[in-house]
Amino acid sequence: MNDDHHPSCPQCGTPATPVHYGLPAAAASEQAARGEIVVGGGVLGAGSPRWACTRCDTRFGDIRPLFSSGN
Ligand SMILES: [Zn+2]
Repeated sequence: MNDDHHPSCPQCGTPATPVHYGLPAAAASEQAARGEIVVGGGVLGAGSPRWACTRCDTRFGDIRPLFSSGN
């Protein structure tokens, strides 16, 4: 898996921003303030998007592959 690759938004082609879940740490809050990441909130469920577009607010991708089995 190459997590460094950011896909483009399927709607407008803007480079996607990774969605971070859980309580935002200080560093994450700073990144979010700069628009480098999107904070998805503390609840992570099936179908939660991995990527967000900050231009048109499209959410896409499936975050589940990030998790290994048994968790
Ligand atoms: Zn977009």
